[in-house]
Amino acid sequence: MTVSTRFRCPACGFTVFNRRLAHCEACQAPLPESLRFDAATLARLERDAAEIDRQRAELAREAEAQEAQRQRRRGDGG
Ligand SMILES: [Zn+2]
Repeated sequence: MTVSTRFRCPACGFTVFNRRLAHCEACQAPLPESLRFDAATLARLERDAAEIDRQRAELAREAEAQEAQRQRRRGDGG
């Protein structure tokens, strides 16, 4: 697997995985704006994360309901 977009700290060459950070995780050097997500991208990511959380909660609720139904059925059968 090749990562086509790879961002490195200009100061130490450390690969920047978390582009939300304003500073390099390795040397704490400030990262250039171009390496970082802009405010609009960050806002979109936040929205996406919230949406994923919502979907995940919904799926969990569904699975719980199905499990409850299954257990009820099992109880009825004796
Ligand atoms: Zn660095």
